[in-house]
Amino acid sequence: MLKDSEKNIPSFIIEEMINYLYSNGMVMKNEDGKGVVHIPSIIYPSPIVKSFFDKIEFYQIAFNKIFDKISRDQKFIEEILTPISETDEFIKKNLEISKKANEFEKKQKIQLNIFRNDFMVDKIKKFIYQTEFNTIAVTMATFSDKMKKFFDFFSKKYPEYFERFLNKTNCEVPIEKQDSISNFVDSIIESIKLFSENYKETLIVFIVQENEKNIFDQRSIENDLWNRFKIKSRRLTLNEIVKECVYDENQNLKIGDKIISLFYFRACYSEKDFIDENSWKGREMIELSTAIKVPNINSFLTTFKVFQYYLTKPEILKKFCPEELISNDIIRFFMKIYYLRDMNSENQKELIKKIFENLNNFVIKPQKEGGKNNYYGEQIKNLLPEGENEPNEILKNSIIMEKIFPPEYETIMLKNDEMKIEKVVSEFSVYGVILSDDTKYYLNKSVGYLVRTKEVGENEGGIMSGAAAVDIPFLIDMEVNREDESVIEYTF
Ligand code: ADP
Ligand code: MG
Repeated sequence: MLKDSEKNIPSFIIEEMINYLYSNGMVMKNEDGKGVVHIPSIIYPSPIVKSFFDKIEFYQIAFNKIFDKISRDQKFIEEILTPISETDEFIKKNLEISKKANEFEKKQKIQLNIFRNDFMVDKIKKFIYQTEFNTIAVTMATFSDKMKKFFDFFSKKYPEYFERFLNKTNCEVPIEKQDSISNFVDSIIESIKLFSENYKETLIVFIVQENEKNIFDQRSIENDLWNRFKIKSRRLTLNEIVKECVYDENQNLKIGDKIISLFYFRACYSEKDFIDENSWKGREMIELSTAIKVPNINSFLTTFKVFQYYLTKPEILKKFCPEELISNDIIRFFMKIYYLRDMNSENQKELIKKIFENLNNFVIKPQKEGGKNNYYGEQIKNLLPEGENEPNEILKNSIIMEKIFPPEYETIMLKNDEMKIEKVVSEFSVYGVILSDDTKYYLNKSVGYLVRTKEVGENEGGIMSGAAAVDIPFLIDMEVNREDESVIEYTF
């Protein structure tokens, strides 16, 4: 619960906070593309058991390796996605590009991945569980970096309202931790150095959506590339790729006389970015070029949630994470996940009955990215087959995940130029970068965090969709006894 003094924070401070968001570029474009609104944000950091937070940061390096390895396993990717591709045109077309890229004689062996690994604490199970692993177009790092400064600024200027978070033993707001954006940029620079000695003469291309609301999150990466390294970047949609890029005799893609050393994807994770056949042509051109792709087509394909299901199987996890002690620890982060295609019909029926009787204990996730695609609660009912009917294709292509029940607490959210006192839950994420070729890792790091906080009862977790607000963590060094009956509650 918020203390009275915290709830009654004066309106002149709230106004100053909202102004701070605008004056420090913590903004996104309005729906109509004109003008901006500040990003939703939280003013008091959100509690999490410190050992949970430390664990997800620590194991990011292992997660980086696992996904990097899967993306190099053509056979495994094809095996998993082929059954889905029979009824999913988007996956089918991407898989076709993956097969061509695999045969491409100038295939780029260097892979840079920028990942974000999302988690929530379950108050009953008293542990932290993965919600999703993202391999493409991971967002919000800019704002997370800036939220640390926001907290530093206001907690020092008005300490009387932030007492709970300051100078406590056993508690910490980790604002000194490394920023994510500078690490993303460092990793991009390390990669293009491997691409060519003349990396300074090359061009980096951001693949973007038309009318991107979240453009400022992306611009901070471009700005840092220029500020620190004097490397230029261009922003192109897939259809502009076809118009502007040409191959030279070595399968390099060029714009004018500049070779493109790296494509960084902030689009292409959903069919919405493919408006016609030319979009697909652009997508393929990128993959059949020498440039480094962040991510390449195979790393992108591993973002589909079905891979999360397969990793919950110990024998498969071990294949990609042979260090037994680590894989034993990693598997603890996974909720129970089901996948009908990997079940016999008797078990399917049993599961469907169980879901029907406990709609609120499951989330159904189709193989789609970008938010607002999952099914929750009553929405799940319509997906389930009636009587003895066969499950439909959507359900067969989805993963069925047990629901996480996070601890709830009160906070103050700034949204649409107003403050609201809300009962909320949080999602905690870690960014990871990994740079490799088929012989070694050049870089493998955990590079900063993101906290997103949303009203209790809100299912989705996105910032851009308006569901959640950007936040920072309040680490509480407390004992958690998983044996007793208690649930996690934060009283501090
Ligand atoms: P996407 O980001 O691709 O839409 P996610 O798997 O991240 O898909 O799910 C969207 C949101 O739904 C998450 O941000 C999280 O808030 C919530 N969510 C996802 N999985 C669970 C789960 N097992 N239990 C509770 N909430 C979940
Ligand atoms: Mg997500």
